[in-house]
Parts: sequence; C-alpha cells; structure tokens
Amino acid sequence: MVNVKGSRYYACGECGLIYEDRALAEACEEWCREHRTCNRDIASRSIGYIRSPGLRL
Ligand SMILES: [Zn+2]
Repeated sequence: MVNVKGSRYYACGECGLIYEDRALAEACEEWCREHRTCNRDIASRSIGYIRSPGLRL
C-alpha cells in the first residue's frame, strides 16, 4: 500500500502498477506472479506506475 497526499492506493508488488482498488492490485499481483507479464485489462485500470519518474497521481 502506498500513501500519496493523504490518499491510499494499492500497488502491485510484482510490476509496480498502482490501483485505487485493493482487489485490482491483488488481481494484478496474482496475474504478474503467474504469467510474468501484465494483464492489459487490469493494467488499463491502474492509476499510475510506482517506478516511473512521472508518477501520475
Ligand atoms: Zn502487476
């Protein structure tokens, strides 16, 4: 979980994508762990990327 300006977000521990919804972050993490790739449907619902310098939060 990451905190940004008082708001809580959930990050996928595998790929670093950030979600507002914890369930989505967990779904992403499961997918990433299993498939070693990102699920486009899930990734498209992320709100940012934790390793990116231009974090969109
Ligand atoms: Zn992921």
